[in-house]
Amino acid sequence: MVAQAQSAGLTVRGGIQCAFGCRYQGNVLPSLVVDLAKQHLDLGVDELALADSTGMANPLIINQLMAEILTLSKQKPTILHLHDTEGKGMANLFAALQCGVRHFDTAFGGLGGCVFIEGATGNLATEDVVWMLAQMGIETGIDIEKIIAVSEDLSQVLGKKMEAKITRKILAKTIKY
Ligand SMILES: [Zn+2]
Repeated sequence: MVAQAQSAGLTVRGGIQCAFGCRYQGNVLPSLVVDLAKQHLDLGVDELALADSTGMANPLIINQLMAEILTLSKQKPTILHLHDTEGKGMANLFAALQCGVRHFDTAFGGLGGCVFIEGATGNLATEDVVWMLAQMGIETGIDIEKIIAVSEDLSQVLGKKMEAKITRKILAKTIKY
């Protein structure tokens, strides 16, 4: 299937969900995730994505496992998909940055969630991530004000408050870097 998609000109991203914990199974063995990653890479995927679907990861395991995965995936884009369900999302992102991860899935306003995972929140909010990276001197090329505008529009459309911490109001009162 991978070869077929690639011959049709598609980029194939192999994804491993619940890579850092499962609400049904509990802990997920890192060695199992490494084996799955190897299988994906052997199949020739163009990109590899690991998801902390449940938000059960912690900075230490992110650091250990992602370092190993990056060694395996070499130059291929390796994406981390983080949720803030247990409040560790940004700490996990920072740990991943420290061990060399440079690609992250985020969502406008932290939108999202999962019907299969109890209490699941959305992904880390794009504006919160972009803002923290900007403060750390890491250029993403993303215009935070435009992202906030989209989140605010989306909030109106959906009739709900977004999860993002950084709003236009807060940004206006914060020192820009
Ligand atoms: Zn997810």
